[in-house]
Amino acid sequence: MTTATDLLGRYAGAMVQVFGTPQLVLASGHGCWVTDVDGNRYLDLLSGIAVNALGHGHPALVQAVAKQAESAIHVSNFFTSEPAIALAERILDIAAAPSGSGVFFANSGTEATEAAIKLSRRTGRTRIVALEGSFHGRSTGALALTHKAAYREPFEPLIPEVVFVPPNDAEALRAAVDDTTAALFVEPIQGEAGVRELSTNYLRLARELTSAHGVLLVVDEIQTGIGRTGDWFAHQSSGIVPDAMTLAKGLGGGVPIGALVTFGPDVTALLTAGQHGTTFGGNPLACAAGLAVLDTIERDHLLEHVRTVGALLDDVGVPGVKGTRGRGLLRALELDGTPAAAAMAAARDAGFIVNAVTPTALRLAPPLVISADELRGFLDALPAILESARAMGEAVS
Ligand SMILES: *Cc1c(COP(=O)(O)O)cnc(C)c1O
Repeated sequence: MTTATDLLGRYAGAMVQVFGTPQLVLASGHGCWVTDVDGNRYLDLLSGIAVNALGHGHPALVQAVAKQAESAIHVSNFFTSEPAIALAERILDIAAAPSGSGVFFANSGTEATEAAIKLSRRTGRTRIVALEGSFHGRSTGALALTHKAAYREPFEPLIPEVVFVPPNDAEALRAAVDDTTAALFVEPIQGEAGVRELSTNYLRLARELTSAHGVLLVVDEIQTGIGRTGDWFAHQSSGIVPDAMTLAKGLGGGVPIGALVTFGPDVTALLTAGQHGTTFGGNPLACAAGLAVLDTIERDHLLEHVRTVGALLDDVGVPGVKGTRGRGLLRALELDGTPAAAAMAAARDAGFIVNAVTPTALRLAPPLVISADELRGFLDALPAILESARAMGEAVS
């Protein structure tokens, strides 16, 4: 039998090492559970970083993909297909987008960001305001709007005229957004920064200021969208209507797809024939997957479900956890002294996949279909996990 040790040896000899050494070699998944090549089972509380919205092997997604693969996987953008049109219509519907809105399909989050940056250039302005702690992707355009210096600096110079302001700081935003600004990019909840929410008032101020100065308000819902927070999109609870929205991660339930949504005819008309494109974007296979995800969320009332089970994480009441952040099934547990990396390793040893999103916090982003019992299983195991993480820390120090 091929073991994880064998495979990781081959990995080291065959891959560019941008991800370091992977924690596990996974073989299969079913529901909210995954199995590695050595036969160990784990409760997946991360879903491939908020991607496997329906968990693993969901029959609706498997059947939709298999059926679509039999008829057409790819047609190119010289042509179109019904799944692409139907998915665009569905997205506009759940986004409550006004008539004249539109969708551009890409294949990833960073490509959705690229499309939004190009959209913003069509305003005739070039200055972009983004937030400290932001993550908008790794391609060189998106990277210019991604705050973390360690990601950005090795690749500078990037596109110029990007300014970062601290999130939830009204004065800083007022000072940064003016008549020379092309776009303001915000994540309603900054996932990569440690699941940090923008306040409703701040999002409303962002809408007010951008409207007053003719600036595009771009909402990055790549991690927070598609039901993750208990709404279709996280910005909806604040009542704002953005000018553009980016999507990816959960949209295809694991099949790569990204999207830029433009709100209203004026914004939609900014990009005209020939100004943007992609070979794979909007292929019928990925779009059929997206339709299956959205249909299943609706049919199985998963938005309500996310709010109900997510409430178990409002206040976990576990010693060693200082507090929680986030909404629905996008959460961070802020640890009281236990290094998050040690807690992640201890959780893995105990059969749970979580993510050390900051040095002091664990991120949870389980499949939207996770049951209350599965989530309680983790919370029940958490005190022992944190204890063994602390013991590991003492052993190495
Ligand atoms: C993951 C993510 C991206 C980038 O998506 P990729 O598919 O990895 O390119 C951009 N923005 C946010 C908020 C994300 O979480």
